[in-house]
Formats: sequence, C-alpha cells, structure tokens
Amino acid sequence: MFEIGYKCMECGRETLQREPLYKCSKCGGALEVMYDYERIRANFVPMQFRYMPPTHMKYYFALPLKAPHNAVTIGEGGTPLINIGGNVYVKFEGVNPTGSFKDRGSSVEISKAVEFRKKTVVCASTGNMGASISAYAARAGLRAVIFTPEFAERIKLKQMKYYGAEVKVSGKTYSEALRASVEYAKKRDAYLTGDYPYRLEGQKTVAYEIADQMNFEAPDNIVIPVGNGTLFYATYKAFNEMKALGIVDNIPKLIAVQAEGCRPIVDAMKSGRLVPAKNPETIAGAINCDDPVEGAGVLKAIKKTGGRAVAVSDDEMIAAKRELAQKGVYAEISSAAAYAGYKKLKLKGKSVIIITGIGFKDEY
Ligand SMILES: *Cc1c(COP(=O)(O)O)cnc(C)c1O
Ligand SMILES: [Zn+2]
Repeated sequence: MFEIGYKCMECGRETLQREPLYKCSKCGGALEVMYDYERIRANFVPMQFRYMPPTHMKYYFALPLKAPHNAVTIGEGGTPLINIGGNVYVKFEGVNPTGSFKDRGSSVEISKAVEFRKKTVVCASTGNMGASISAYAARAGLRAVIFTPEFAERIKLKQMKYYGAEVKVSGKTYSEALRASVEYAKKRDAYLTGDYPYRLEGQKTVAYEIADQMNFEAPDNIVIPVGNGTLFYATYKAFNEMKALGIVDNIPKLIAVQAEGCRPIVDAMKSGRLVPAKNPETIAGAINCDDPVEGAGVLKAIKKTGGRAVAVSDDEMIAAKRELAQKGVYAEISSAAAYAGYKKLKLKGKSVIIITGIGFKDEY
C-alpha cells in the first residue's frame, strides 16, 4: 500500500518501481523495499493499534501488499513469546502453519505472485522455505517448483510433495540450488521466490510482534540464527521502521548465530571481508548457506546495533535442543543454535531468542 520502490543495501541506489525486482541493476547487491513513511505515519492510529492482538497482518502498513484483505494466508504469525526464566524469552516460530517463520515471508511472496497473475512459482531452499512456499502456492492454486541441495532433510522434501510441489534435488551446496532456481525462472518465465525483497518484508512481522508483545519496550538483545540472513536483516529493518514511526524508542543489539561448519558472517566480522564458506558442513541444514544472500545487510545490522556474531558446534546445538525441550520448547536444530549462541556469549539484559522452526523436522 505504501511502498514506493527499492534501495540497494550495498551501493544505496534507489529504484522507484513497484514491480518485482530481485537485485540492484548497478552493483548486483541485495535490495530492500522503501516506503513512504510520511503516509504511513499519517494513516497510523496508535490507540487502535494498541488494542489489536499481535498477528502477521496487523502490520500490513509495513507490507508491500495492494490490498491486505486479499492476502494469501494460512494464519501465520501471532506466535507466543515465552519466558524461559529471568530476563530470557523465546519467540516460538515453530508453531507457524508449516513449522517455521518462513510462512510470514511466503504469505507476502505468494500474495504478490497472485497480484502479478503468475501461474508458477520457483524457489531454492534448504527445506523449510520450500515447504512453506509449496503450502502457500497450494493455497493460492499456483504450481510450485522447488530446488534443494542434496543435504535437505527428507522429511522436508516429503512435506513439499504433500503440498503438491515438484521437487528438484540440485547440487551439493545451497548456492548451486540457488543458481538452478534462477535459471529455471528465467527460462520458464516463472515467478522467482526466495531470499528477495518481498520475503524480507514479510519476515519483518516477527520483530513487530516481539516489540508488541513486550509493550513496545524493545529488549536489549535479539538472538537470531543466520543462514541467508533475511530474518536477521528483516528484524533490523523492522526496528528501524518502528523507531521512525515512534512505536519504539530503542533498537536492540542483534546477535547472529551460525554453525562452526558454515560461518561466513562470523569470519567476516573478524577479517572484514565476506567470502563464501568452503566445504560447508553442519547438522543444521536450515542455516547451511555458504554464500549468504543478505550477507552485507547482516554485517551492517550487527555493526549499527552494536551486536555480535558467534559460531556454535553441532554438539552445542544438540545440548541446546535438549535444554530447550526441558523447558517445553521443541526446537529445530538450526533454531537451537540460537540458544546455544546466547549461552556461549553469556548475554546480559533482556534477551529474546528467535526459535525459528519446530523440532520434528530433523533427526537430532
Ligand atoms: C530459514 C531458516 C533459518 C535461517 O533464516 P535466514 O533468513 O536464511 O537467515 C534459521 N532457522 C530455520 C529453522 C530456518 O528455516
Ligand atoms: Zn547496488
């Protein structure tokens, strides 16, 4: 409703168009959607906002949808924020319709595919995004083609197939599957979904909900597992928007957690240079992204918020999954990574850990 175009995260180039755009035409960098924040502010009714329960579509004013009531939805969002002792909370995204936070982004991407009258959508995924896109495509009556790397968990492939998607296992690494999806979309004129600007917008609502559930007092830290970095950058963008709209006063420190076996962001924080991980290997498939699409954005968000990046081992993730389960939270191994990172850094202050997915989908 209020979107006006795109801005490049790397070179800052602005493009005023409201059709899908994937990469910066000047430098190839990742893009983010720009809004007319003046118009959002003019339409914003604080009292009405305050008393509505937190759900994905409550924040439609910050989503690039033509008509929110036409959005493709399966009831994503509105997930619990659970206190697990002291100042520590988990935002449990595992209870979304397909088992991960990806549903927030998929609802926006598939709504856009419908707006642009597309018939086929294509996506590269380590598993959860493909499952999510398949579900929302099914809901909208679109055909879905999903490219996955060989390490994708079989149970996630099964989930995609139940929703009716065509699954193509393609390449050893995530970036190989990604290349195959981009080629396919070009050749077949299919709608390319994935870690692109519209998804990023949808994934912001997890941050809006966290702020909302904390009475608009931002926590000190938000701890997030990082694969392609879309959730991480979306959280950063959402808090900046909320600050610009006067909904929150502070922006939390954003803490990135990666696997020891695939840690391009952690390494870039040390070396100052972002290079793809070589021979990535970890049990945490959902964060096994060798060349993070949103890498530049993640580094910027860490630096601007005074955040940190940390890597955890597979064993630390398994211990974290067990410990979370004892508190009643059954987390996917890639999500347990965030809790392991929180413990490793011994963070002080009020902290929210985003538990990105449900624990049924991996074998650990
Ligand atoms: C996708 C995913 C991640 C990583 O999110 P990015 O936006 O790619 O950084 C983490 N955990 C789970 C369970 C996921 O499905
Ligand atoms: Zn650029």
